[in-house]
Amino acid sequence: MSDPNWPAFEPFKAKVIEKIPITTPSQRRAAAERAKYNLFKLLAREVTIDLLTDSGTGALSDMQWSMMMRGDESYAGAESFCRLEETVRRITGMRHVIPTHQGRAAENLLFSALLKPGDIVPNNTHFDTTEANVSAKGGIPLNLPCGKAHDLDDLSPFKGDMDLDKLDQVLTENKGKVPVVFTTVTNNSAGGQPVSMANLKATAEICKRHGVPFYLDCARYAENAWFIKHREKGYAKKSLEQIAHDMFGCADGALMSAKKDAYVNIGGFLATRDRKVKDRVAEIMVVVEGFVTYGGMAGRDMEAVAQGLNEGLDEDIITARIAQVARLGDRLTELGVPILKPAGGHAIYLDARRMAPHLPQSQFPGQALTVEIYLEGGVRAVEIGSVMFAHKDAESGEMVYPELELIRLAIPRRVYTDAHMEHVAQTVAAVNNRADGVRGMKFIYAPPRLKHFLAHFDWV
Ligand SMILES: *Cc1c(COP(=O)(O)O)cnc(C)c1O
Repeated sequence: MSDPNWPAFEPFKAKVIEKIPITTPSQRRAAAERAKYNLFKLLAREVTIDLLTDSGTGALSDMQWSMMMRGDESYAGAESFCRLEETVRRITGMRHVIPTHQGRAAENLLFSALLKPGDIVPNNTHFDTTEANVSAKGGIPLNLPCGKAHDLDDLSPFKGDMDLDKLDQVLTENKGKVPVVFTTVTNNSAGGQPVSMANLKATAEICKRHGVPFYLDCARYAENAWFIKHREKGYAKKSLEQIAHDMFGCADGALMSAKKDAYVNIGGFLATRDRKVKDRVAEIMVVVEGFVTYGGMAGRDMEAVAQGLNEGLDEDIITARIAQVARLGDRLTELGVPILKPAGGHAIYLDARRMAPHLPQSQFPGQALTVEIYLEGGVRAVEIGSVMFAHKDAESGEMVYPELELIRLAIPRRVYTDAHMEHVAQTVAAVNNRADGVRGMKFIYAPPRLKHFLAHFDWV
């Protein structure tokens, strides 16, 4: 927060408000028990401050609501599609634009078109649905984060970067088995950390040398562009739109969950420079997603995405957002809570291992603390650790645990005030102060994929 040009306040005001639920400790205990200690199973009316995700939970602007009135609901060739297509083409420079109802639909379509069983997909770090969609097609998702990504205290500016040497090695050793390389901007599962332009360019160069297409998973491309502007040499004077254009310029294609940096409740797209990929995707999508000019979206949804994409590159709005997230991180640090540093673009990640060192990974420290944070102050966060990523090794049958046990506090866009954030900080600090008394958790039920959404838990 050293830059004197950062505004100390949001560059907007409330026009509509929504009352939030205030609950008692006994109501929260009953709710958590009923939900089998899986906070995805809580009802919204049981949650006071909802930091489960920043996906689809942002507030729309008056301009987005106005544009939605212009939604053209024609089955084919709607005006709303044309506006979305024009906007995506302008920002990405990619010619073929395929609307989808959300990010994972774009993942499913692209991997259906590109993957054969046994194929490897490298990524700086797969988001959970991306990993699941690669696996569901028989592919092997491979995470190649840079060495600093797992050091929670390393203050490097671009901890979201891809490990370039490993990528080169993987492509050299697996010729013909890697149909696409991905970089996720910002790197959601590795702490919302940004990826540098230098790393994107180098990744593109390696992919080109090996003749493998390079795609961006660009849910938070605007936040990533902001970090490049403020942290990477040579970009301070460029507009976010220019930087975004340069980022996309490295890639052959991109898929986006518009529920993040496009400020919509639902929506997404796939964009590509490759006509053949577009044609293959079009054949698949008419079966599972919808006609090529609406995907799974209504015309009004496409209007909201198009307008939201433009607002996502508004410097004042995004500066205020990143500053709010950073302030929460500073406040938690002040209160003695261990967090992943530096603060990510869309979320603060708590270090569950350091909060509760007495709990082994097999007892899900992140999940146990996430439940306690809800019980303490009605704040809903999400575990990003062993519940999400621990798995049996296919050969040895041993459990493999992730390096990090994190709890994500994702901040919805344009929704909460700093007073809400202070309640969050106080709640988390209270749990941190009594964390040595927190019991571990175990699965009562767990589905094979994306366990965290549906699992049931109990205390050990
Ligand atoms: C949210 C997200 C997705 C999946 O998008 P949905 O809209 O939730 O289906 C994919 N990748 C990243 C990086 C995301 O943040």
